[in-house]
Amino acid sequence: LPIHEAVLGRAAEFGDAPALIDGTDGTTLTYEQVDRFHRRVAAALAAAGVRKGDVLALHSPNTVAFPLAFYAATRAGASVTTAHPAATAQELAGQLADSAARWIVTVSPLLETARRAADRAGGVREIFVCDSAPGHRSLIDMLASTAPEPSVAIDPATDVAALPYSSGTTGTPKGVMLTHRQIATNLAQLHPAMPAHPGDRVLAVLPFFHIYGLTALMNAPLRQGATVVVLPRFDLERFLAAIQRHRITDLYVAPPIVLALAKHPLVAEYDLSSVRRIVSAAAPLDARLAAACSRKLGLPPVGQAYGMTELSPGTHVVPRDAMATAPPGTVGKLIAGTEMRIVALDDPGRDLGTGESGEILIRGPQVMKGYLNRPDATAAMIDADGWLHTGDVGHVDADGWLFIVDRVKELIKYKGFQVAPAELEALLLTHPGIADAAVIGVYDEDGTEVPKAYVVRRPTAPDLSEGEVMMYVAERVAPYKRVRRVAFVGEVPRAASGKILRRRLREGA
Ligand code: ATP
Ligand code: MG
Repeated sequence: LPIHEAVLGRAAEFGDAPALIDGTDGTTLTYEQVDRFHRRVAAALAAAGVRKGDVLALHSPNTVAFPLAFYAATRAGASVTTAHPAATAQELAGQLADSAARWIVTVSPLLETARRAADRAGGVREIFVCDSAPGHRSLIDMLASTAPEPSVAIDPATDVAALPYSSGTTGTPKGVMLTHRQIATNLAQLHPAMPAHPGDRVLAVLPFFHIYGLTALMNAPLRQGATVVVLPRFDLERFLAAIQRHRITDLYVAPPIVLALAKHPLVAEYDLSSVRRIVSAAAPLDARLAAACSRKLGLPPVGQAYGMTELSPGTHVVPRDAMATAPPGTVGKLIAGTEMRIVALDDPGRDLGTGESGEILIRGPQVMKGYLNRPDATAAMIDADGWLHTGDVGHVDADGWLFIVDRVKELIKYKGFQVAPAELEALLLTHPGIADAAVIGVYDEDGTEVPKAYVVRRPTAPDLSEGEVMMYVAERVAPYKRVRRVAFVGEVPRAASGKILRRRLREGA
């Protein structure tokens, strides 16, 4: 099925149940409205000239209009490329040009950036706004459209529904072509771990434009009749207040939010008793931190999921019914209809056994169609037999639970030994004087790669010294893993999805 059908196919059945609630002003859209409105907008977009195969850039923070714009665009036959709302005009122009976008949907506060980006990129025919702005057609006006519903024949197996860009953690973000079928199939595969019932309430605090938010906070809950409470950005106080006010049941977050929940004193001031599940994905989460968070909230352990943009996005989840029993630190079990291999880092032809760490390879219906305009990168990623080489290192235990070690590219090679930055970061976070930390490999005078820690001190530990940090790690790890350089910083640079931007640290190193 096309993605809008796969997600909204049961909208009529859910009828008057709340589908989307604006967490700031309380505006509510029922399922019946989401279904009717997105069809109206699709008709208006088609009347404005949107044709099958056109690329439409959706450039907006999380709002209740975001899903309407997304499903309307795919219903009109467009491929939606979701753009970071904080992108500069130059960054956005790069994405518009690379994806050959013809249309933009944005919001009035971002209009200036969108205009400049469109001028720079060329090829954009019209900029629509979700709210209202002089001289621009708005989605609100489109709700009154009397244009006929477009009848576009979509081939779910080949037509691209979404063109998200990867996070750019390891290099320039790449456009990832995901077909209707790839996304819809993955939703069905992930079902055992996603919000499942009307009455479940999720808080959309991670961005919809990233594949994790798009899946866990938009497609999955709307497919199941759950309610999505929408927040435009993460702010701990508003986040906690929204959980309390809207009786949120399911939290899909990234590690920095788990960290805040585990460590911030503000957490104790809110009633979070409605929360039944916390799931973290997108970046490594330390088992101790996860445990501290769930203890503090009196909840089953934080469950994890694993995926990447190129996998539509999921392959591993901790199923809902296994949250209490899954081993600490696991990112979950392989989902149905997907194959995995773990192969030696120095020999991709050699499969490894239980407990041995190697590169994770995935084959299945959710593997992307390819990178846009980058046949070389696609060929480097997906081999002739259809295996996608994730670039992530992991191992499975005897019961099939997967554990992620780190990315192949991030592993620090200290005198022939491999050191995973994620392990050192997790250890640093257990220090009471450390608020946040990141580790990268830097080269010594003699050319040896050594781990360097970037540490954010807690306000309670202004005097924490380099020596103390190094000693703390040295007392707890094998000698080859020791942190050998320390720098104190005001904050750790992170992507919207919570990933540490080690690239940024490296540039400044
Ligand atoms: P780019 O590919 O542009 O460098 P990126 O890989 O960060 O950026 P995404 O597709 O957003 O872009 O992220 C996928 C990556 O996130 C995975 O390859 C993996 O490294 C990491 N990841 C996802 N989930 C987890 C998890 N539960 N634990 C550890 N790492 C995770
Ligand atoms: Mg990647």
